Amino acid sequence: MNGATMVSSMGIGHARDHSWPSGLMSRLIGLMFLWLFIPFAPVIAASIKSVDYDTDRVVLRFDGAVNKASAFVIEKPNRLAIDVADAIAGSGGVPGGPFLSVRHGQYDPSTARVVLELAKPIIVTDGHFSEDGKELILSISNATVDKFRSAVTKGRTRFNSSLALASFGGSVRNSVTVPLGPPERGLPLPRVQGGRDNDRPLVVIDAGHGGHDPGAPSVMEGRQEKDATLAIALALRDQLLASGRVRVALTRADDRFLVLGERREIARRLKADLFISIHADSAPNADARGASVYTLSDVASDKVAAQLAIKENRADILNGVNLGGEASDVSSILIDLTQRETMNISSAFAGLLQREMADSVPMRQRYHQFASLVVLKAPDVPSVLIETGYMTNMDDARTLFSHDGQQRIADAIRKAIEAHFARRLAQR
Ligand code: ZN
Repeated sequence: MNGATMVSSMGIGHARDHSWPSGLMSRLIGLMFLWLFIPFAPVIAASIKSVDYDTDRVVLRFDGAVNKASAFVIEKPNRLAIDVADAIAGSGGVPGGPFLSVRHGQYDPSTARVVLELAKPIIVTDGHFSEDGKELILSISNATVDKFRSAVTKGRTRFNSSLALASFGGSVRNSVTVPLGPPERGLPLPRVQGGRDNDRPLVVIDAGHGGHDPGAPSVMEGRQEKDATLAIALALRDQLLASGRVRVALTRADDRFLVLGERREIARRLKADLFISIHADSAPNADARGASVYTLSDVASDKVAAQLAIKENRADILNGVNLGGEASDVSSILIDLTQRETMNISSAFAGLLQREMADSVPMRQRYHQFASLVVLKAPDVPSVLIETGYMTNMDDARTLFSHDGQQRIADAIRKAIEAHFARRLAQR
């Protein structure tokens, strides 16, 4: 769904209250489930119910109290993004005046994002929450191109409600300005192995699936994708550590479940230089075999790639409940904000993987594919998903579940990783 269709029913300049969009309820339930499964998951306080504006301010209204938000501007095209903490994406807002479009998305399980495309350069000069926490009022003003650009460089302005402190009689400024920092999340981070110094690049290896999510079943009795992905991830970690050129962290080192958004958040919060998600494919046709590599795109390269995205993104769905809390329109917003450079680096790495794997691992003919995969959507970490082979093909399954096969796949990926960083070092 895009913003234009979402808000088309609303009058010019004034967003009226909106009934709950379909899917919101399931997202709410999904987030409750998330909370059950993951003790550090955030408490969701509210959802956005309207976005109003006039020439000098933007007002977001919520159906509950909110106390943290931030805003930042980005260029090409010029946009104002507003992130609301502990909130669910809602709706509201009509393009017009200074705004060409208004879009809503769930940036991560605890952050709702509104993106306003700007008809002219505009900056946020101040902001505060209403006393009951149900409104965020941002002051905006027209800016010169230079001033807008300096606001882009400055990064995020944060707004905190003074509600909690005010009740103790304190007088507190409503807003503080800080540079764009890492996302604030309560995720426990895995151990980084391979030295404490930050000189060596950091690779985060993500073993697909785990816990209650087995992934694809295998033609080999009782074997599941989640076990093959973990074995290959561990083999890759060990080889990388033995070689000593990079630092390594694993999203999971045992049989546990993580939602997709959390896997990529781990990479972001560790400031990883590369994120590699390990999977194994499945197909109705038992002859289908070979490895392939996926990088992020909002347009799938073909029908198979589109189906794969549905299949792998499904890891967050349990009994129809979306544990990841990703809004359906989230992809367009996130990809919009994704730096092109990140996608280019990911693609270049996919090329190296092809070169290194070709000798030792059977590959699909169309080796590098593009798909909208949730796990790859870290805007600032080059990311690839490797389908190491087909669980549904007997030859591939033998490779995927044998010690020798796992070592061979890990060895090829390790070589590609080392070539990647050697190349990047040379380019510096
Ligand atoms: Zn998978």
